[in-house]
This record gives sequence, C-alpha cells and structure tokens, in this order.
Amino acid sequence: MRLHNDYSDDGVFWRGGAWPPYDDRGMEEVGRVVATCHRHRIQVVPVVPYFSIYEYHPEVPGFAENADQWTRSADPAGTLLHNPVRNGEYGVQMCPMSGWLEKRKRDVEKAYREFGFDGIYFDWVEPLPCNNRAHAGGLHSGTDGVIDLLAWTRRLIGPGGVLFLHSGIGVTPIVFENFGDVLITMEDLAYRQEMLRLPDIPVTGFLGEDLPRVPCPSYRTDLNKERNQNNIAVWVALGVFPMWRATGPSTATTGGPGYDLTLKLFHTFQPYELENYRLHHALSGAVRTGWEDIYGAVYGSPDQALVVLSNVNAARRRNVPWRVEPEALVTKLRRGSE
Ligand SMILES: [Zn+2]
Repeated sequence: MRLHNDYSDDGVFWRGGAWPPYDDRGMEEVGRVVATCHRHRIQVVPVVPYFSIYEYHPEVPGFAENADQWTRSADPAGTLLHNPVRNGEYGVQMCPMSGWLEKRKRDVEKAYREFGFDGIYFDWVEPLPCNNRAHAGGLHSGTDGVIDLLAWTRRLIGPGGVLFLHSGIGVTPIVFENFGDVLITMEDLAYRQEMLRLPDIPVTGFLGEDLPRVPCPSYRTDLNKERNQNNIAVWVALGVFPMWRATGPSTATTGGPGYDLTLKLFHTFQPYELENYRLHHALSGAVRTGWEDIYGAVYGSPDQALVVLSNVNAARRRNVPWRVEPEALVTKLRRGSE
C-alpha cells in the first residue's frame, strides 16, 4: 500500500516539509491504517509515504524564513519556482545542495520512525540545475545532493526496506538507481494524446536496466480504457508492468477501467512467479508471429517456458501463427575465430 497525498481540493493533504502533516484525527488514522496493514502482513507491498525531493509547501511554518536561502533558482532574480496544481500547488522547488537537504532528511526520518513505515517513496528523482549563489559559486546540478539523500535513506531503512524511485525524465542516472528497489518511469508519456506505440518506449525502459521498471499509465481521461489497454499490450511484450490508479493525474481517485485492467493483468501473471524466469522480450527476436502488430515474448526457465503474445492493434486477430526461435534464446559465446 502506498500513501500518496500531495494535493487535495479540500485542503486536507500532506504539505511538503510539514510535521505533523495532519491534525490529531488524521495522524491517528494513518497510524491505524499502517497497523492494520502490518497486522495482515502486508509486507510485499509496504506502506510507503510519498516524498518529493524538491517541493517545499509555502504554507508550512519555516518556509518564509528559509525559502530564499534554500530555493532552486533559474534566473538572476532568484524567482521562486512554484509547481501549481488546480487551485493550489505542490510546493516551491528547493535545491538539495542547500540546507534543504538536511530539512528533507529530518522530514523523512520523522515520518519513517513515527508511523513505522516499511520504506520510502521519492518523486522527482532527477538532477535539476540551479544558479542560486547561496549554494555554490555558479551554475550547479542537484546530483550530489540527490545521491546524498538516497544513500542516507538507504541506510535509514536498511537493506530490507523498500525504496521507490519515481522519475519524470526518460533516463534516470544509474547512480540513483543503485539505491532503489523499483523505478517508476515513463511519466513523460502519460499525457500524450496519441496512442502509445512500442517504438515510443525509451530504450532504457527495457535495456541495461538496474531496477525493475514500473511505467505510469495514461493520465488522460478520454478513451482511458482503450489507452491503458493499448499501453498494457505494448508493455507486457517488454516485460514491464504498470501501476496505480490509471484514471487520471496523481490527484485523481483510485479506480476506473484502466485500474481494473492493471489488476487483471497482475492476477493473470501472478501464479507464474515471473521473477524466477528469464525474459526474452519482443525485440529479442525470440518469437516470430504472422502479424507485424502482434508481438511475442518468452519467459524461460529450466523447467518451462511461458510465451506471451500481444496484439497492439485495436482490431481483433484470429488464427495467429507464431513460433519460438530457439537460437534467439541462447547467449552465444565467441572465442577466437570460432
Ligand atoms: Zn542550488
């Protein structure tokens, strides 16, 4: 279970940098939910609070005193960079190369210890340039600060804690990935109007990865079911599984046709325990089909193979010929002139 509550129109939400994040009743409710999950041994998907690495909400006490010193700036005037959402905002962008880093660590530790969370979820896991002269002599990136925060958090939660990394950019530095357990990615594709196609997937979505990828579903509300149906058809051929509500942006409520599709997908694959298989994805050439828009992938193990066929065309296909290419399943070793 994941607590993600960074904005709500009714004003009841966890403001970046706030402690306590809720009134007494709200704090008790979070504690009750955490305890209930632990009582039912919900450990596989831990209760995780959401933290944005960069956002500090202006309504939080202390903001006025510290914002000018800690803010990330991109112009000579040091204009504050607000991240608006509907009638409010998520917060103002701070720079992890400032006193904000220690503040953020204290926020994370308080939440982790007082609620007994099993892990941490960071959004904005990316380096952002800053020219605030209070932090460095000139233009600098937030890279060292992000590494510091992630390394510190890994020490806090230990090797058994779960660290979600969420990145809005197509390529996340691998040094960031080294600290995490899973990478939430492809959010840059979530708002697009066109239907997702396999060539749109960044190559880092399935090659050379260090962590399992979890793509963001389509956030659009028009044709939501069709969009997520299409996305799943593309992703599943690459061994990538989507997550969360799938009905709109992060402020939308959970549920809807896209969400049901995601749950159905997990239920279908759950009995196979795919972590014990080796994936040969759609671009590996392991499966040939009779249609260009029907992709094939193989999950192989010493005991059995699971072949996945995926139709990314809206039209139904019948009588689909397919075959597995055994030589594509083998890693060939070349020695000398052989
Ligand atoms: Zn800075």
